Amino acid sequence: HPRISARIAGITPSATLAVDAKVKALKAEGRPVIGFGAGQPDFPTPDYVLEAAIAAVRDRANHGYTAAAGLPELREALAAKTLRDSGFSVEPSQVLVTNGGKQAVYSAFATLLDPGDEVLLLAPYWTTYPESIKLAGGVPVQVTADETTGYLVTVEQLEAARTERTKVLLFNSPSNPTGAVYPRELIEEIGKWAYEHGIWVITDEIYEHLVYDDAVNHSLPVVVPEMADRTLVLNGVAKTYSMTGWRVGWIIGPQDVIKAATSYQTHLCGNVANVSQRAALAAVAGPLDVVHEMRAAFDVRRKKIVSMLSEIPGVECPTPKGAFYAYPSVKAVLGKEIRGERPSDSLELADLILREAEVAVVPGEAFGTPGYFRFSYALAEKDLIEGVNRVGALLSEAK
Ligand code: PLP
Repeated sequence: HPRISARIAGITPSATLAVDAKVKALKAEGRPVIGFGAGQPDFPTPDYVLEAAIAAVRDRANHGYTAAAGLPELREALAAKTLRDSGFSVEPSQVLVTNGGKQAVYSAFATLLDPGDEVLLLAPYWTTYPESIKLAGGVPVQVTADETTGYLVTVEQLEAARTERTKVLLFNSPSNPTGAVYPRELIEEIGKWAYEHGIWVITDEIYEHLVYDDAVNHSLPVVVPEMADRTLVLNGVAKTYSMTGWRVGWIIGPQDVIKAATSYQTHLCGNVANVSQRAALAAVAGPLDVVHEMRAAFDVRRKKIVSMLSEIPGVECPTPKGAFYAYPSVKAVLGKEIRGERPSDSLELADLILREAEVAVVPGEAFGTPGYFRFSYALAEKDLIEGVNRVGALLSEAK
Protein backbone atom coordinates (compact mmCIF):
# COMPACT_ATOMS: atom_id res chain seq x y z
CA HIS A 1 0.00 0.00 0.00
CA PRO A 2 1.20 3.55 -0.70
CA ARG A 3 1.62 5.69 2.40
CA ILE A 4 -0.81 8.30 1.16
CA SER A 5 -4.16 7.44 -0.39
CA ALA A 6 -4.55 8.02 -4.12
CA ARG A 7 -7.49 10.30 -3.36
CA ILE A 8 -5.45 12.70 -1.22
CA ALA A 9 -2.22 12.32 -3.17
CA GLY A 10 -4.14 13.45 -6.26
CA ILE A 11 -4.95 16.87 -4.82
CA THR A 12 -3.06 19.99 -5.83
CA PRO A 13 -2.47 22.13 -2.73
CA SER A 14 -4.11 25.55 -2.80
CA ALA A 15 -1.97 27.81 -4.99
CA THR A 16 -3.37 30.95 -3.44
CA LEU A 17 -2.43 29.81 0.05
CA ALA A 18 1.03 28.84 -1.30
CA VAL A 19 1.60 32.35 -2.68
CA ASP A 20 0.45 33.79 0.61
CA ALA A 21 2.84 31.54 2.55
CA LYS A 22 5.74 32.66 0.31
CA VAL A 23 4.89 36.31 0.96
CA LYS A 24 4.74 35.74 4.71
CA ALA A 25 8.12 33.95 4.65
CA LEU A 26 9.78 36.73 2.61
CA LYS A 27 8.30 39.41 4.87
CA ALA A 28 9.63 37.53 7.90
CA GLU A 29 13.09 37.78 6.30
CA GLY A 30 12.58 41.52 6.16
CA ARG A 31 11.98 41.74 2.38
CA PRO A 32 9.69 44.59 1.26
CA VAL A 33 7.33 42.24 -0.56
CA ILE A 34 3.93 43.43 -1.70
CA GLY A 35 1.35 40.67 -1.85
CA PHE A 36 -1.64 40.66 -4.18
CA GLY A 37 -2.25 37.01 -3.40
CA ALA A 38 -4.48 36.99 -0.36
CA GLY A 39 -8.20 36.55 -0.83
CA GLN A 40 -9.10 38.32 2.36
CA PRO A 41 -10.27 41.82 3.21
CA ASP A 42 -7.67 43.86 5.07
CA PHE A 43 -10.28 45.53 7.32
CA PRO A 44 -10.78 44.52 10.95
CA THR A 45 -13.82 42.45 11.89
CA PRO A 46 -16.54 44.98 12.94
CA ASP A 47 -16.61 45.96 16.64
CA TYR A 48 -20.14 44.77 17.31
CA VAL A 49 -19.14 41.30 16.14
CA LEU A 50 -16.14 41.31 18.47
CA GLU A 51 -18.34 42.40 21.38
CA ALA A 52 -20.79 39.58 20.70
CA ALA A 53 -17.93 37.08 20.56
CA ILE A 54 -16.45 38.32 23.83
CA ALA A 55 -19.82 38.10 25.56
CA ALA A 56 -20.28 34.61 24.10
CA VAL A 57 -16.93 33.45 25.45
CA ARG A 58 -17.88 34.68 28.95
CA ASP A 59 -21.17 32.77 28.94
CA ARG A 60 -20.70 29.15 29.91
CA ALA A 61 -23.79 28.25 27.94
CA ASN A 62 -21.62 28.58 24.83
CA HIS A 63 -18.84 26.26 25.88
CA GLY A 64 -20.46 23.06 24.66
CA TYR A 65 -21.40 21.48 21.35
CA THR A 66 -24.20 23.06 19.39
CA ALA A 67 -26.72 21.23 17.23
CA ALA A 68 -24.85 19.77 14.25
CA ALA A 69 -26.66 21.93 11.72
CA GLY A 70 -25.88 25.07 13.73
CA LEU A 71 -27.38 27.21 16.49
CA PRO A 72 -31.14 27.46 15.91
CA GLU A 73 -30.92 31.27 16.32
CA LEU A 74 -28.22 31.44 13.68
CA ARG A 75 -30.13 29.28 11.20
CA GLU A 76 -33.14 31.50 11.73
CA ALA A 77 -31.05 34.65 11.22
CA LEU A 78 -29.50 33.18 8.08
CA ALA A 79 -32.94 32.43 6.64
CA ALA A 80 -33.99 36.03 7.42
CA LYS A 81 -30.77 37.43 5.96
CA THR A 82 -31.23 35.43 2.78
CA LEU A 83 -34.68 36.90 2.28
CA ARG A 84 -33.37 40.40 3.06
CA ASP A 85 -30.34 40.25 0.78
CA SER A 86 -31.43 38.21 -2.20
CA GLY A 87 -35.18 37.83 -1.89
CA PHE A 88 -34.93 34.05 -1.52
CA SER A 89 -37.47 32.78 0.99
CA VAL A 90 -36.31 29.73 2.97
CA GLU A 91 -37.02 27.99 6.27
CA PRO A 92 -34.36 27.73 9.00
CA SER A 93 -34.47 23.96 8.40
CA GLN A 94 -33.05 24.62 4.95
CA VAL A 95 -29.82 26.03 6.41
CA LEU A 96 -26.68 24.12 7.39
CA VAL A 97 -23.89 26.07 9.14
CA THR A 98 -20.42 24.93 8.01
CA ASN A 99 -16.77 25.60 8.83
CA GLY A 100 -16.39 28.41 6.35
CA GLY A 101 -17.49 28.59 2.75
CA LYS A 102 -14.79 26.08 1.95
CA GLN A 103 -16.49 23.33 3.89
CA ALA A 104 -19.82 24.36 2.41
CA VAL A 105 -18.30 23.70 -1.03
CA TYR A 106 -16.97 20.29 -0.07
CA SER A 107 -20.07 19.15 1.83
CA ALA A 108 -22.29 20.21 -1.04
CA PHE A 109 -20.36 18.02 -3.47
CA ALA A 110 -20.04 15.16 -1.00
CA THR A 111 -23.79 15.19 -0.55
CA LEU A 112 -24.75 15.36 -4.23
CA LEU A 113 -22.12 13.41 -6.13
CA ASP A 114 -21.72 9.72 -6.85
CA PRO A 115 -18.47 8.46 -8.36
CA GLY A 116 -18.18 9.55 -11.97
CA ASP A 117 -20.82 12.26 -11.81
CA GLU A 118 -19.73 15.25 -13.86
CA VAL A 119 -19.75 18.83 -12.64
CA LEU A 120 -19.64 21.71 -15.10
CA LEU A 121 -17.00 24.02 -13.75
CA LEU A 122 -16.92 27.56 -15.11
CA ALA A 123 -13.34 28.72 -15.65
CA PRO A 124 -11.49 30.78 -14.61
CA TYR A 125 -12.55 29.05 -11.40
CA TRP A 126 -11.73 29.38 -7.72
CA THR A 127 -8.85 27.02 -7.12
CA THR A 128 -10.62 24.91 -4.48
CA TYR A 129 -13.52 23.83 -6.71
CA PRO A 130 -11.91 21.15 -8.90
CA GLU A 131 -10.10 19.56 -5.96
CA SER A 132 -13.29 19.56 -3.93
CA ILE A 133 -15.21 17.91 -6.77
CA LYS A 134 -12.52 15.23 -7.16
CA LEU A 135 -12.40 14.58 -3.41
CA ALA A 136 -16.10 13.86 -3.52
CA GLY A 137 -15.61 11.38 -6.38
CA GLY A 138 -16.90 13.70 -9.08
CA VAL A 139 -15.35 14.69 -12.39
CA PRO A 140 -14.83 18.40 -13.09
CA VAL A 141 -15.62 19.37 -16.68
CA GLN A 142 -14.15 22.76 -17.42
CA VAL A 143 -16.08 25.34 -19.44
CA THR A 144 -13.88 28.34 -20.11
CA ALA A 145 -14.65 31.97 -20.84
CA ASP A 146 -12.01 34.61 -21.53
CA GLU A 147 -11.59 38.37 -21.34
CA THR A 148 -13.30 38.92 -24.70
CA THR A 149 -16.68 38.07 -23.11
CA GLY A 150 -15.86 39.58 -19.72
CA TYR A 151 -15.33 36.01 -18.47
CA LEU A 152 -19.00 35.06 -18.87
CA VAL A 153 -19.84 31.63 -20.32
CA THR A 154 -22.78 31.12 -22.62
CA VAL A 155 -25.55 28.53 -22.51
CA GLU A 156 -24.27 27.20 -25.84
CA GLN A 157 -20.94 26.42 -24.19
CA LEU A 158 -22.67 24.67 -21.30
CA GLU A 159 -24.84 22.67 -23.67
CA ALA A 160 -21.76 21.58 -25.62
CA ALA A 161 -20.17 20.30 -22.41
CA ARG A 162 -23.28 18.50 -21.13
CA THR A 163 -23.32 14.69 -21.16
CA GLU A 164 -25.46 11.93 -19.69
CA ARG A 165 -23.27 12.09 -16.60
CA THR A 166 -23.67 15.81 -15.93
CA LYS A 167 -25.29 16.20 -12.54
CA VAL A 168 -24.26 19.65 -11.31
CA LEU A 169 -23.41 23.09 -12.63
CA LEU A 170 -21.16 25.04 -10.30
CA PHE A 171 -21.94 28.73 -10.53
CA ASN A 172 -20.06 31.60 -8.86
CA SER A 173 -21.07 35.23 -9.27
CA PRO A 174 -19.47 37.61 -8.36
CA SER A 175 -16.55 35.46 -9.39
CA ASN A 176 -13.27 34.65 -7.78
CA PRO A 177 -10.86 35.13 -9.61
CA THR A 178 -12.30 37.35 -12.36
CA GLY A 179 -14.67 39.65 -10.49
CA ALA A 180 -17.24 38.97 -13.23
CA VAL A 181 -20.90 39.43 -12.26
CA TYR A 182 -23.46 37.56 -14.34
CA PRO A 183 -26.31 39.76 -15.57
CA ARG A 184 -29.87 38.73 -14.75
CA GLU A 185 -30.77 37.66 -18.29
CA LEU A 186 -27.84 35.27 -18.50
CA ILE A 187 -28.63 33.80 -15.07
CA GLU A 188 -32.17 33.27 -16.25
CA GLU A 189 -31.03 31.50 -19.41
CA ILE A 190 -28.61 29.32 -17.47
CA GLY A 191 -31.17 28.48 -14.78
CA LYS A 192 -33.82 27.54 -17.34
CA TRP A 193 -31.34 25.40 -19.24
CA ALA A 194 -30.38 23.60 -16.00
CA TYR A 195 -34.05 23.05 -15.17
CA GLU A 196 -34.81 21.67 -18.60
CA HIS A 197 -32.00 19.11 -18.36
CA GLY A 198 -32.50 18.06 -14.73
CA ILE A 199 -29.17 19.55 -13.69
CA TRP A 200 -28.50 20.73 -10.14
CA VAL A 201 -26.93 24.12 -9.50
CA ILE A 202 -24.52 24.90 -6.69
CA THR A 203 -24.23 28.67 -6.59
CA ASP A 204 -21.49 30.27 -4.52
CA GLU A 205 -22.65 33.74 -3.46
CA ILE A 206 -19.89 34.53 -1.00
CA TYR A 207 -19.15 37.88 -2.75
CA GLU A 208 -22.84 38.86 -3.00
CA HIS A 209 -22.39 42.28 -1.36
CA LEU A 210 -19.27 43.27 -3.26
CA VAL A 211 -20.72 44.60 -6.51
CA TYR A 212 -19.83 47.89 -8.20
CA ASP A 213 -21.10 50.37 -10.78
CA ASP A 214 -24.42 49.17 -12.17
CA ALA A 215 -23.90 45.52 -11.21
CA VAL A 216 -26.53 43.78 -9.07
CA ASN A 217 -26.24 40.36 -7.50
CA HIS A 218 -29.09 38.10 -8.60
CA SER A 219 -29.61 34.79 -6.85
CA LEU A 220 -30.28 32.01 -9.36
CA PRO A 221 -33.18 30.32 -7.48
CA VAL A 222 -34.90 33.71 -7.24
CA VAL A 223 -34.48 34.45 -10.93
CA VAL A 224 -35.60 30.91 -11.85
CA PRO A 225 -37.88 29.81 -8.95
CA GLU A 226 -38.49 26.34 -10.43
CA MET A 227 -34.79 25.66 -9.71
CA ALA A 228 -35.21 26.20 -5.94
CA ASP A 229 -35.71 22.48 -5.37
CA ARG A 230 -32.47 21.66 -7.17
CA THR A 231 -30.19 24.49 -6.06
CA LEU A 232 -27.73 24.80 -3.20
CA VAL A 233 -26.70 28.33 -2.29
CA LEU A 234 -23.29 28.64 -0.62
CA ASN A 235 -22.27 31.64 1.43
CA GLY A 236 -20.26 32.76 4.44
CA VAL A 237 -19.25 35.67 6.65
CA ALA A 238 -15.58 35.73 5.55
CA LYS A 239 -15.64 38.25 2.72
CA THR A 240 -18.71 40.32 3.66
CA TYR A 241 -17.76 41.01 7.28
CA SER A 242 -14.00 40.63 7.09
CA MET A 243 -14.22 37.43 9.13
CA THR A 244 -11.99 35.01 7.22
CA GLY A 245 -10.43 33.53 10.36
CA TRP A 246 -13.72 32.91 12.15
CA ARG A 247 -14.64 30.04 9.83
CA VAL A 248 -18.36 30.32 9.39
CA GLY A 249 -20.16 29.54 6.16
CA TRP A 250 -23.46 27.91 5.24
CA ILE A 251 -25.41 25.96 2.68
CA ILE A 252 -29.02 26.71 1.82
CA GLY A 253 -30.97 24.06 -0.03
CA PRO A 254 -33.95 21.75 -0.17
CA GLN A 255 -34.81 20.02 3.13
CA ASP A 256 -33.80 16.51 2.07
CA VAL A 257 -30.35 17.64 0.93
CA ILE A 258 -29.75 19.73 4.05
CA LYS A 259 -30.85 16.78 6.18
CA ALA A 260 -28.40 14.48 4.40
CA ALA A 261 -25.57 17.03 4.58
CA THR A 262 -26.30 17.50 8.30
CA SER A 263 -26.12 13.78 8.87
CA TYR A 264 -22.68 13.86 7.21
CA GLN A 265 -21.66 16.82 9.37
CA THR A 266 -22.53 14.92 12.58
CA HIS A 267 -19.55 12.68 11.76
CA LEU A 268 -17.35 15.16 9.92
CA CYS A 269 -16.93 17.92 12.49
CA GLY A 270 -19.92 17.74 14.83
CA ASN A 271 -20.55 21.44 14.66
CA VAL A 272 -18.92 24.77 13.88
CA ALA A 273 -17.23 26.45 16.88
CA ASN A 274 -19.96 27.70 19.17
CA VAL A 275 -18.41 31.13 19.78
CA SER A 276 -17.80 31.65 16.07
CA GLN A 277 -21.46 30.94 15.42
CA ARG A 278 -22.41 33.58 18.00
CA ALA A 279 -20.13 36.06 16.25
CA ALA A 280 -21.63 35.18 12.87
CA LEU A 281 -25.09 35.70 14.33
CA ALA A 282 -24.16 39.25 15.34
CA ALA A 283 -22.75 39.85 11.86
CA VAL A 284 -25.67 38.62 9.76
CA ALA A 285 -28.36 39.99 12.08
CA GLY A 286 -26.66 43.38 12.13
CA PRO A 287 -26.87 46.27 9.68
CA LEU A 288 -25.05 46.40 6.36
CA ASP A 289 -23.50 49.86 6.90
CA VAL A 290 -20.07 48.48 7.64
CA VAL A 291 -20.27 46.30 4.56
CA HIS A 292 -21.14 49.30 2.44
CA GLU A 293 -18.17 51.21 3.84
CA MET A 294 -15.84 48.37 2.93
CA ARG A 295 -17.35 48.15 -0.50
CA ALA A 296 -16.79 51.88 -1.06
CA ALA A 297 -13.12 51.48 -0.09
CA PHE A 298 -12.74 48.46 -2.40
CA ASP A 299 -14.35 50.41 -5.21
CA VAL A 300 -11.72 53.17 -5.02
CA ARG A 301 -8.95 50.59 -5.20
CA ARG A 302 -10.69 48.70 -7.99
CA LYS A 303 -10.73 51.76 -10.19
CA LYS A 304 -7.14 52.53 -9.34
CA ILE A 305 -5.79 49.05 -10.07
CA VAL A 306 -7.71 48.64 -13.32
CA SER A 307 -6.50 51.96 -14.66
CA MET A 308 -2.91 51.29 -13.60
CA LEU A 309 -2.83 47.72 -14.97
CA SER A 310 -4.33 48.86 -18.26
CA GLU A 311 -1.40 51.21 -18.80
CA ILE A 312 1.16 48.41 -18.66
CA PRO A 313 2.17 47.30 -22.15
CA GLY A 314 0.99 43.74 -22.87
CA VAL A 315 -1.51 43.69 -20.02
CA GLU A 316 -5.23 43.49 -20.86
CA CYS A 317 -7.55 44.11 -17.92
CA PRO A 318 -11.34 43.98 -18.24
CA THR A 319 -13.11 45.98 -15.52
CA PRO A 320 -14.28 43.62 -12.79
CA LYS A 321 -17.78 44.39 -11.48
CA GLY A 322 -17.58 42.41 -8.27
CA ALA A 323 -15.52 40.76 -5.50
CA PHE A 324 -12.03 42.25 -4.90
CA TYR A 325 -9.99 40.81 -7.73
CA ALA A 326 -8.68 41.99 -11.06
CA TYR A 327 -7.82 39.29 -13.60
CA PRO A 328 -5.74 40.72 -16.44
CA SER A 329 -4.36 38.74 -19.36
CA VAL A 330 -0.56 38.87 -19.62
CA LYS A 331 -0.42 36.68 -22.72
CA ALA A 332 1.22 39.41 -24.79
CA VAL A 333 4.20 39.52 -22.41
CA LEU A 334 4.92 35.77 -22.48
CA GLY A 335 7.92 34.62 -24.52
CA LYS A 336 9.58 38.02 -24.34
CA GLU A 337 12.92 38.64 -22.70
CA ILE A 338 13.00 40.23 -19.25
CA ARG A 339 16.28 40.51 -17.32
CA GLY A 340 17.89 37.69 -19.26
CA GLU A 341 14.95 35.31 -18.85
CA ARG A 342 12.16 34.36 -21.20
CA PRO A 343 9.13 33.30 -19.14
CA SER A 344 6.92 31.17 -21.35
CA ASP A 345 3.88 30.92 -19.10
CA SER A 346 2.20 32.94 -16.37
CA LEU A 347 3.61 30.64 -13.67
CA GLU A 348 7.18 31.50 -14.71
CA LEU A 349 6.35 35.16 -15.14
CA ALA A 350 4.80 35.35 -11.67
CA ASP A 351 7.93 33.73 -10.28
CA LEU A 352 10.17 36.25 -12.06
CA ILE A 353 8.05 39.13 -10.75
CA LEU A 354 8.33 37.83 -7.21
CA ARG A 355 12.12 37.54 -7.47
CA GLU A 356 12.85 40.73 -9.40
CA ALA A 357 10.11 43.11 -8.25
CA GLU A 358 9.22 41.50 -4.94
CA VAL A 359 5.56 41.51 -5.81
CA ALA A 360 3.36 38.43 -5.40
CA VAL A 361 0.48 37.69 -7.77
CA VAL A 362 -1.34 34.40 -8.34
CA PRO A 363 -0.77 32.98 -11.84
CA GLY A 364 -3.76 31.93 -13.94
CA GLU A 365 -2.64 28.29 -13.83
CA ALA A 366 -4.21 28.17 -10.36
CA PHE A 367 -7.60 29.02 -11.85
CA GLY A 368 -7.57 26.73 -14.88
CA THR A 369 -6.52 29.45 -17.32
CA PRO A 370 -2.79 30.00 -17.90
CA GLY A 371 -1.83 33.40 -19.33
CA TYR A 372 -3.43 35.53 -16.61
CA PHE A 373 -2.67 36.95 -13.21
CA ARG A 374 -5.04 37.40 -10.32
CA PHE A 375 -4.50 40.57 -8.31
CA SER A 376 -6.44 40.81 -5.07
CA TYR A 377 -6.94 44.49 -4.28
CA ALA A 378 -7.67 43.83 -0.62
CA LEU A 379 -4.58 45.76 0.47
CA ALA A 380 -3.77 49.35 1.41
CA GLU A 381 -3.95 51.77 -1.52
CA LYS A 382 -0.36 52.93 -1.13
CA ASP A 383 0.89 49.33 -1.31
CA LEU A 384 -1.38 48.71 -4.26
CA ILE A 385 0.10 51.66 -6.14
CA GLU A 386 3.68 50.75 -5.26
CA GLY A 387 3.10 47.09 -6.18
CA VAL A 388 1.54 47.73 -9.57
CA ASN A 389 4.22 50.33 -10.33
CA ARG A 390 6.90 47.73 -9.70
CA VAL A 391 5.18 45.19 -11.94
CA GLY A 392 4.75 47.85 -14.62
CA ALA A 393 8.40 48.87 -14.47
CA LEU A 394 9.57 45.27 -14.80
CA LEU A 395 7.20 44.33 -17.61
CA SER A 396 8.15 47.48 -19.51
CA GLU A 397 11.62 45.96 -19.88
CA ALA A 398 10.18 43.09 -21.98
CA LYS A 399 11.66 42.90 -25.45
N1 PLP B 1 -16.02 30.67 -2.30
C1 PLP B 1 -15.20 31.51 -2.96
C2 PLP B 1 -15.52 31.86 -4.36
C3 PLP B 1 -14.07 32.03 -2.32
O1 PLP B 1 -13.27 32.88 -2.98
C4 PLP B 1 -13.80 31.67 -0.99
C5 PLP B 1 -12.57 32.14 -0.31
O2 PLP B 1 -11.58 32.44 -0.90
C6 PLP B 1 -14.69 30.79 -0.35
C7 PLP B 1 -15.79 30.31 -1.04
C8 PLP B 1 -14.50 30.27 1.03
O3 PLP B 1 -14.33 31.17 2.00
P1 PLP B 1 -14.22 30.74 3.53
O4 PLP B 1 -13.93 29.28 3.59
O5 PLP B 1 -13.12 31.57 4.08
O6 PLP B 1 -15.54 31.05 4.14
